[in-house]
Amino acid sequence: MIQLHDLYFEKFIPRSEINLAINGVALEINDDFKDKNPVFLIVLNGAFFFAADIIKKFEGNCEMSFIKVASYDGTQSSGEISTVMGAEPYLKGRSVIVIEDIVDSGNTIIAIKKILEEEQVKEFKIATLFYKPEAYNKNVPIDYIGLEVDNDFIVGYGLDYNGLGRNLNDIYKVKKQMMKNIVLFGPPGAGKGTQAEVLKEKYNLIHISTGDVFRYNIKNETDLGNLAKFYMDKGDLVPDEVTIDMLKAEVNKNLKANGFIFDGFPRTESQAQALDDFLAEKGEGINAMVALEVPEDILVKRLLKRGETSGRPDDQDESKIRNRFNEYETKTAVLKNYYSDQNKYYGVDGVGNIEEITLRVCDIIEKI
Ligand code: AMP
Repeated sequence: MIQLHDLYFEKFIPRSEINLAINGVALEINDDFKDKNPVFLIVLNGAFFFAADIIKKFEGNCEMSFIKVASYDGTQSSGEISTVMGAEPYLKGRSVIVIEDIVDSGNTIIAIKKILEEEQVKEFKIATLFYKPEAYNKNVPIDYIGLEVDNDFIVGYGLDYNGLGRNLNDIYKVKKQMMKNIVLFGPPGAGKGTQAEVLKEKYNLIHISTGDVFRYNIKNETDLGNLAKFYMDKGDLVPDEVTIDMLKAEVNKNLKANGFIFDGFPRTESQAQALDDFLAEKGEGINAMVALEVPEDILVKRLLKRGETSGRPDDQDESKIRNRFNEYETKTAVLKNYYSDQNKYYGVDGVGNIEEITLRVCDIIEKI
């Protein structure tokens, strides 16, 4: 997987397959134009690799000219075509072979056809390395086609994404985010675990509660558990390195999931950054932070009540509970800004009965 600007791309067509396609097109062009002294009209910038390969294989006399039109803005064909660099004037009466890297909507082809007609060429044919039959909706025939591709955004072998990727020798396809990943956020006692239980069933997501994973490890007296216990019993956060590695391992166990509900993670800005980087390496990301908002006095009551039955030492003592709030206020609450800056923060009133709150959360999840 490679990254270009904000997007991730995976290998799609290897160089060997591109070579075969180019050989096929070169043979056909040789047959049709060997004795016609044609002009290759190369559509910049993307077609320069393909053009070089085709022209090196051409066996008759030929000339070259370049033209530059622009229609792409990011990954979407804008439909607006502007001529940046026009064809040279000596095309009149000539046989012209237009060399394109990719034909998708066909807007560029229409613009070039108009130019060639104005120049009064004798005849013209269009050769393209890639052709998107699903996207092409014009009636100008495409005469030589290297490879047909689906309507995905591709880069490499001359094709770019906002300037990058042209130098790649293979073709890469943009990787779409497949997962729905939610950060369930809020101070201790806000009801994250309770809501996660319902949401994971409803949306078929994997629920990862870092607190639960630590408690599981404590119960089983693992090294990780023994380390975490030292911090958890006081109501302190477990150090980032330990928590981040553990979280990654939990995600890696479930890579085929529809997505994750992260409950109790991230709790610091460096955890949030690590999570973003880690998911991005997989072509994934966080869709939303859903924050349960509950006043502190209600939270303390909820936690002490839970402490009567949960067996959690950090729920039973008000000073430990206060310390957890303090950790939350000083280290975790800033994450509201972290996700707001990415337009991913959604606050939900976390006071009321469980079903009501679930409805409020689902409203958000269904919108994203
Ligand atoms: P919780 O069950 O989410 O209330 O978490 C209980 C305790 O586990 C916290 O008070 C921390 O000591 C520890 N813990 C859970 N998640 C994290 C995290 N993301 N970073 C650091 N410590 C955590």
